[in-house]
Amino acid sequence: MFKKSPEWNLIIKYLARDKRGRYILDININDYKVPVQKEFKFKDYPHQVSTQENETELRDEVIPELVDLLQDLHLKLFAEEKDGIMVVLQAMDAAGKDEAISYIFSNLNAQGLKTTSFGQPSEEEEKHDYLWRLHRGKPERGEISLLNRSYYEDVIVTRVHDLLGEEHKDQIKDDTDLWKLRYRQINDHERYLEENGFHTIKFFFNMSKDAQRDRLLERMKDPKKNWEFSFNDVKERQHWDDYQEIFQDMINETSTSWAPWYVLPADNPWYARAVITKVMIEALEKINPQFPEFTAEEKAELDKYIEQLENE
Ligand code: ATP
Ligand code: MG
Repeated sequence: MFKKSPEWNLIIKYLARDKRGRYILDININDYKVPVQKEFKFKDYPHQVSTQENETELRDEVIPELVDLLQDLHLKLFAEEKDGIMVVLQAMDAAGKDEAISYIFSNLNAQGLKTTSFGQPSEEEEKHDYLWRLHRGKPERGEISLLNRSYYEDVIVTRVHDLLGEEHKDQIKDDTDLWKLRYRQINDHERYLEENGFHTIKFFFNMSKDAQRDRLLERMKDPKKNWEFSFNDVKERQHWDDYQEIFQDMINETSTSWAPWYVLPADNPWYARAVITKVMIEALEKINPQFPEFTAEEKAELDKYIEQLENE
C-alpha cells in the first residue's frame, strides 16, 4: 500500500480507470513543460513523483495502452506525409534516454521512425558549423526522428569543458556572449523548422545525483550491464554541478512556444516514460494527421476493381 505523501493525489489520479476499465493516465503534461515567461529553475521540477510500486503498474498496464494510441497516431502521421516531428533527448549518463527509445518509440512503425546519436564530432563534422551534422538527423515528412543527444551538446559539453576552438572565438566580438548567441541561433532554427511543418519536442531527463550513482554502480557491478558503462561517465559525473548550472541556463533560454522543453522526473523511469508518451500523444493530436482519402474518381475506380476481384 502507498503511504500518504505529497504525491498521493497524483497516484490516485493516474490509477483512475474509465468506464471500460482501462487505466487513465491523468498526468498534466504542463506540470513538466517549461514555460516561456517564467525563469526556469531546477528546484521547481522534481526528480521523482511516485513510489516504486506504481512503476510496475505504469509499465504493465498504463504505458502499453498509451503506446497503442501513439502507434495509431504515428501511422496517420506517416500515411499523411505532411508534418514531421523531431524529438530531442538530453541528459546526464544513465538517466534513461536509451530506455525511453527502446520501451516507447521502438514500438512504433519502423518505417516512420529514425534515431540519430550525437557523440563526439568526427573530423569532418568539426570542420563545419555546429548544426551541420543535425541535417542527417532531421525527420522527413511523416517521420518521427529521435535525437539521442543533439546539437544541444554544443552549448553543454562544449561549455563545460571549454572545447571551442580558437577559430570560433575569433569570430565573436568581445562583448558578445557566445552561449546567448548560440541559444538564439538554436531558437531561430527550431522556429524555421516549425514554420516548415517540422515540430521540435525536447525532453530533459532530470535525474538526481544519487540516482545516477546507483545506476552507474549497477552498470559497473552487473556483468550483463557492463557494456552500458563507460569510464567517461564517472569522469563526467565529477562535473555534475557545472552541468546542472549549464542545463538550467540552456533550458531557461531555449524553451520556446514553438519548441518547448519538458523536464522529466527521471528518478522514476516508468513515470518519465509515461510523461513522454503523453506529450507525444498530445503533440500528435494537435497535428491531427489524417489518412489520405481517395478522390471521387479514384473511389469509382476502386469500386470497379473490388467488383472485379470479388467476381474472380
Ligand atoms: P550516451 O552517453 O549518449 O548514452 P554513448 O556513451 O554510447 O551514449 P558516445 O558515442 O560515447 O555515446 O557519445 C556520447 C558523448 O559524446 C557524450 O559524452 C557527449 O557529451 C559527447 N559529445 C556529444 N556531442 C559533442 C560535441 N559536440 N562536442 C564534444 N563532445 C560531444
Ligand atoms: Mg555515454
